[in-house]
Amino acid sequence: MTYPEADCELDFANPLQLLIATVLSAQCTDKRVNAVTPALFDRYPDAAAFAGADTDELEELIRTTGFYRAKARNIQGLAGQLCARFGGEVPAELDALVTLPGVGRKTANVVLGYAFGIPGITVDTHVGRVARRLGWTSQTDPVKVEQDLMQLLPQPDWTMVSQDLIWHGRRCCVARKPRCGQCPLATLCPSAEGATDAAETLPVAKKPKPAPKRRSSGALLAIAAVFMVTACSAADGNIAGERVSTTATTQADGAATTSPRDPALAALIIAAGLAPCPDSDRTAVAIEPIGRVGGGLPVLTLPCLGDGPDVVLSGLRGTPMLINIWASWCPPCIAEMPYLAQAARDHSDELLVLGIDVQDRPGSALDLAAALDIGFASVSDPGFDIRAPLVIPGPPVTFFVDADGVIQGRQDGAFPTQQALAEQLSSYLGIDPA
Ligand code: SF4
Repeated sequence: MTYPEADCELDFANPLQLLIATVLSAQCTDKRVNAVTPALFDRYPDAAAFAGADTDELEELIRTTGFYRAKARNIQGLAGQLCARFGGEVPAELDALVTLPGVGRKTANVVLGYAFGIPGITVDTHVGRVARRLGWTSQTDPVKVEQDLMQLLPQPDWTMVSQDLIWHGRRCCVARKPRCGQCPLATLCPSAEGATDAAETLPVAKKPKPAPKRRSSGALLAIAAVFMVTACSAADGNIAGERVSTTATTQADGAATTSPRDPALAALIIAAGLAPCPDSDRTAVAIEPIGRVGGGLPVLTLPCLGDGPDVVLSGLRGTPMLINIWASWCPPCIAEMPYLAQAARDHSDELLVLGIDVQDRPGSALDLAAALDIGFASVSDPGFDIRAPLVIPGPPVTFFVDADGVIQGRQDGAFPTQQALAEQLSSYLGIDPA
């Protein structure tokens, strides 16, 4: 077995606790969630307690998981729904779970699989990417990926295969440069020694490439790969192989796109791990101007470069932030992006990195962001609304914003090194190197 320890990494004692923990895990590490939930579950032992919680107190308890206002809203909303419609219990049906606030198919399948023992395919960015590379699907829409894998894999293995794919995607088949040389599936994988995921090779691609063509035996090899990962004891390789072949013929041609909200671009986002835009609290007070760094952040609603919600800039409070102003035509911006992406990864528990693309071609910005695998949320400012109030001569400019929404510092021009960025993070926001 490749990942014998692969399992749900969230701590929970009942379905409600797993549901809450999974909601908290969005844009946050499982380790951070597990640090928060003991006190949370002590304070709120059941759905009624969560529904009746004092919002300020609940927000404070989950603050360090990030996006705490939106998460608190969802938790109170779903708890209220559980009390009103399900007698305070978490339903064990997918159709019912996805009607709860903040609960999508991914969260629902985690709860079904680990709290109720009902097999479910959980499709996150890792599962989709690895499945495409292995040739199990050519789809990029998570629901369609889920459907392909449900046809391909034995139902009892759905939950564990999902977890194995997540672990494999995090540790070996990573987004940008899969470690094929170390991969136990390399001899079986049609994408070995080169990412062939439609969405990953595209600095200039406007339309996804077709999934890799496989020899007639490729599907059988892919099925064997499934069982290398999952250590399943038996499989009907012929049947599964035919199903893989069927899905391979359904791949989308992918039309040329220009809009960041075009469904075809979802492939880029999913494969590159571009983070969804943060949900912001529209009731928050605007960030105040402070002295030498020049004006405060204006109250602006900016469209997400990916498929997330619009972002109200003034409402992003509660987590320290780096706000990076960039454009895809700006070479220094592109040169520093890996440093920002590394900072986002190193400090995912304590820092939000938000890119603002200041140009009128959000489609090309999304292409580039995905190709660079920046992995942090990015929004678009096609109307140039942000440049004038912030007195930005030209990108790149990066603002250091503390948890109270105060701009503590500003970097004009690109960070020359990772170290330079780390020093400013420490100086302005008190965030020390990971
Ligand atoms: S061989 Fe490479 S592309 Fe295929 S699963 Fe392994 S790491 Fe991923």
